[in-house]
Formats: sequence, C-alpha cells, structure tokens
Amino acid sequence: MIVMKFGGTSVEDAAAMRQVIEIVRRKRALSPIVVASAMAKITDTLIRCAQLAHQGHEDDAQRLLNETVAARHRDAAAQLVTTEPQRSVLLERIDHHLNELRTLLHGLAILGELSPRSLDTVASYGERLSTLILAAAMREAGLDAELLDARQFIITDDRFTKATPLMDLSAPRARALLLPVLHRGAIPVTQGFIGATPHGITTTLGRGGSDYSAAIIGALLDADAIEIWTDVDGILTTDPKLVPHARLLESVTFQEAAELAYFGAKVLHPSTILPAVEKNIPVYVYNTKNPKSPGTRITAREAQPTPPGTLKAIAYKQGITVINIYSTRMLLAHGFLHAIFEVFDRFETSVDLLATSEVSVSLTIDDTRHLDKIVSELQKFSTVTVERERAIICLVGEGMKHTPGIAARAFGAIRDININMISQGASEINLSFIVHEADVPTVIQRLHREFFER
Ligand code: ADP
Ligand code: ASP
Ligand code: MG
Repeated sequence: MIVMKFGGTSVEDAAAMRQVIEIVRRKRALSPIVVASAMAKITDTLIRCAQLAHQGHEDDAQRLLNETVAARHRDAAAQLVTTEPQRSVLLERIDHHLNELRTLLHGLAILGELSPRSLDTVASYGERLSTLILAAAMREAGLDAELLDARQFIITDDRFTKATPLMDLSAPRARALLLPVLHRGAIPVTQGFIGATPHGITTTLGRGGSDYSAAIIGALLDADAIEIWTDVDGILTTDPKLVPHARLLESVTFQEAAELAYFGAKVLHPSTILPAVEKNIPVYVYNTKNPKSPGTRITAREAQPTPPGTLKAIAYKQGITVINIYSTRMLLAHGFLHAIFEVFDRFETSVDLLATSEVSVSLTIDDTRHLDKIVSELQKFSTVTVERERAIICLVGEGMKHTPGIAARAFGAIRDININMISQGASEINLSFIVHEADVPTVIQRLHREFFER
C-alpha cells in the first residue's frame, strides 16, 4: 500500500484534479491512499476571512468567502461531476459546508475574538471541501473512491494551529477505518493538514502540514512508500523560484531532507521525515504536472555516496528575527544559557540557530508572536538587541563532512555581503548563516553558481 499526497496546486481547479485522477488510476494496483491539501491559496483565504470577521469587517469576510472559496469549489465541482443525481448531491454538500463557514464567520464577528481553536476550525474547511470534490470526481471517473474524515483517525494534542499527532491513539483508529476500504479494493481519500483532539475538537498540524499527514498515515499503516506530489519535479538543488534552472536531485538522505525542510525548503514540511524515518519508509517527491519525471527518492542511506567536498542543495528561510543577548555581569556564567532557554520555553518559541561568544548569545526565531514578552523577560538579566527581516541560508549535503573547503568557497562567492552567526550542526551536513532578507536572491544565485554551475 502507498500513500499519495497531492498539494494545493495539484488540486487547484478541475483541470488539476483531472490530472490527479489519472495519476492515481495508474497506481491503482499499489493500493493507494489519497491525501489532499486544500486548493491552492484557499487556506490563506480562509484565514483572511476569519481575521476580517473578527476585526469587525464581516461584510468583507463574507464577500471574500463567496467570491473565492464558494466560487472556486462550486466551479470545479460542476465541471468534474456532470451526472445526476451525483452532481446535485455534491453541490448541496458543498453549500452545506459553505453555510457552516458563513455561520462561523458571523460568530467570530459577533464575539470579536479569534482563538487558535476557532482558526483551526475555519481553516479545516479548505481540505474538507477539496477532498469532498476530489472523491466525487474520482467516482465520476470510474474509480471506487471513499471519502474518510481525517479527524476520525488523526488524533492530536490540543496545541491548536500546530498540533502534534498522538500516534498510539491514532493507530488503531486509522487501521479500523482505512484498512477495510483498502481490502475491498476501494481508494480511501482523506484530508491532509487536519486532525482532532481525543475529544473531537478540530486541530491543524501547522501550515504546509499535509505532507506531515501523509507521513503520519504512512507510518500508522506501515506503507510501502509515501509519495509527495507537488508542482516541481522533485527536490532541486535550490528553490526554482530563485534559480529557475536548479537541478533535480535523484536521491537525498532522510537527514539531508530533514535539514533542507527545517531550513526552509518548502517542498517538504519539516516534520514529514520523522514518521517515515522511524518506520524506514521511503519518501518520493513527484511532479503532478510532469508525472513522467523520475522525481526524488528520500531514503535512509545514500544510493551513491556524494564525493567529499560537494553540496546537495541550498535552502533559505525568510522572516527570521535575530536576538542578541549580552551578559556583562555573568560572562556566560553557569546558568546563563539555562536562564535564556527557560524564557523561550515558557513562551513556546523555538530557536532555529544559535551562536555564542564570551559575553553574548545570538539566536534566531521565526515565530515572533511573543517577541515583546520574551525581550522584556531577557532584559531582567541581560542587554538585548533585536534584528528583524533576516534570513537563514543553509548549505546541505552528506559530502560536507570533514571538508572545510566548502566554507571558504561559499564565503568567497559572497564576500561583499554582510553575513553573521555562522554555524554548523553536529551532524556536519549543514552550514548555516544569517543574511539580510533583501540579500537572499543574490546570495542564493551566487552560491548556486559556485557549487552547481561550474
Ligand atoms: P504543495 O502545495 O504541493 O505542498 P509547496 O508550495 O508547499 O507545494 O512546495 C513546493 C514548492 O517548494 C516549490 O514550488 C518550490 O518553489 C519550493 N521549493 C523550495 N525549495 C525547494 C527545493 N530545494 N526543491 C524543490 N522545491 C523547492
Ligand atoms: N492547506 C494547508 C496550508 O496551506 C496545508 C498544506 O497545504 O499542506 O498550509
Ligand atoms: Mg507544501
């Protein structure tokens, strides 16, 4: 059995869904489970609607809902399902979801509040609507698809907007609901991104979380493979949005993929790799718009070891804030780092990069919701400065181990650009540093030229 996950652009409209259906049809013999994202941009729009409603602009929120969310789903459904009564039934179900959304937005407007919990409920409609249509369209195209609600078997904790799956609670439910469908030869279709607490309250796994859902389902059911179908040929040497001629990588290791995802390569959600690693399930990345491309295979070990001194890929993560913490009194005395991390821990803010000197600690965060509170706590025992609009650049590759020449080449290629906080993880397969956000395109293009275009 395999898990096939289709991202937002892969299900963005009727034409895209038709391609998905043909890709699934060709893999039918492998017993696929289909996991889908919301149509492209729909999650953003739903969140925007919720924010507008809560800020008192209910009319704008409802208009946005009607003009984009309602229109795009009704349009795709009408194109994909033309047989009656299936078509009317589907349109009625879509309208039912849309009416619930309208009521929810009205509620947010009246209450004037928007909790993470409400936000998750609103956001969940993106995946619920896309899969409702995809499953009906698959049946219309002659595939025996059965829509399953992921909230029945992806059980999570209640950290709304970034919930963590509870695998022990999820496993028996996933097996009980999904396996019988597979056994009778049908194709389960379910939502990425969403889950529910043990009490049945809707949660989400964090933005981009559909990849994570696919990996969770693959791990829960011991799948033979997890396939991430997206809008690029696979994992490339860097983001093709900055370097259009970036090269396709035939294979990367779990560890390389994890570093790339963690440091911003959006092609995979950072949490995707862990469930797959634990069960040693290979992950493949393929292009829905170019299904003949060989894609990228992510596996435990390298198929062919990369020659020492070579890179695999370059990632970047924008929207980074650097916090510099100076201790004049303590000189990094015992307990100083502990005191710092206790503050970040208390405000549930994770730290990406860290560099220390005799009298200071610099670290980076991307979640700035609690920045003001964090800074004022830190100021109780140190002097603090904050630099915004920074980005992390990260070079990744197993071939970097014990090869100091890489740093010299990298910094030589961007010697006129201001960089700081250079750091190398213990795994030795990444080298990261901070630049100003505005320098990202130049830095990525020059590094790509240096390492991949010679
Ligand atoms: P989906 O909606 O299918 O989940 P995403 O937009 O989340 O797709 O991820 C795919 C995007 O990831 C690509 O369009 C590309 O711009 C971006 N990306 C960033 N780094 C890389 C990389 N190294 N290789 C491939 N894609 C990358
Ligand atoms: N639809 C969700 C998002 O836009 C999850 C995903 O696409 O992976 O974040
Ligand atoms: Mg994604």
